[in-house]
Amino acid sequence: MNYHDDNYCRSCDTIVRGVKVLDGQPCLVLADTIYYAQGGGQKSDRGTLTIAGREYRVLKSVHDENGDPVLVTDIPDPDACAGMPVHCELDWDFRYTQMKLHTCLHLMHCLLQKQLGHELDNPLTSTIEADFAINKYKNAMVTDADTEELEKELNALLAQDIEVMTWADENDARYRYWKCLDWVIPCGGIHVHNLREIGSVHLASHTKKGNRTFTVTLG
Ligand SMILES: [Zn+2]
Repeated sequence: MNYHDDNYCRSCDTIVRGVKVLDGQPCLVLADTIYYAQGGGQKSDRGTLTIAGREYRVLKSVHDENGDPVLVTDIPDPDACAGMPVHCELDWDFRYTQMKLHTCLHLMHCLLQKQLGHELDNPLTSTIEADFAINKYKNAMVTDADTEELEKELNALLAQDIEVMTWADENDARYRYWKCLDWVIPCGGIHVHNLREIGSVHLASHTKKGNRTFTVTLG
């Protein structure tokens, strides 16, 4: 089981499979992991692990060379944990905010395309911080964008009971898609299942060095 099987799973009990060294850093490999491995602008999950009655911190979840999630922790001797049962807890507030902001960025991108009447390349940068998210575009592509109108349309959708779907490619389970209304975006991130979960947002934009940045803030 991993975070794609259940985006809302906040805790689980599993086994430490072993330790893998990535860039000189020993990383814990779990049989199941609820910690999203950083990627696509979305931050890595963090949380805690309890092993043999002691609590440790999950500092980061990263992809190994096969694309599987492994954990950077503060466990002093990770090798000693191999084969042991582990209780996992997610920093849910952090993750849920990432899910909301990330979903919102996709939606904003789709509405921006609709407003401009043409397809947009992927943003130059798409970043989700702890309490805001940004998409940065080449200004030439979005010069005429009306941010106020975009914010209005975004909030009109977020007020409705609209489903968000994600699924894995049938030939490659690591390649995933996001869909909302008629919009489909390839994405392996974690999203909310319904737009209503996001609540209202504030959208701002500014132009700097020939690029236009849109910033989404929740609430
Ligand atoms: Zn996504």
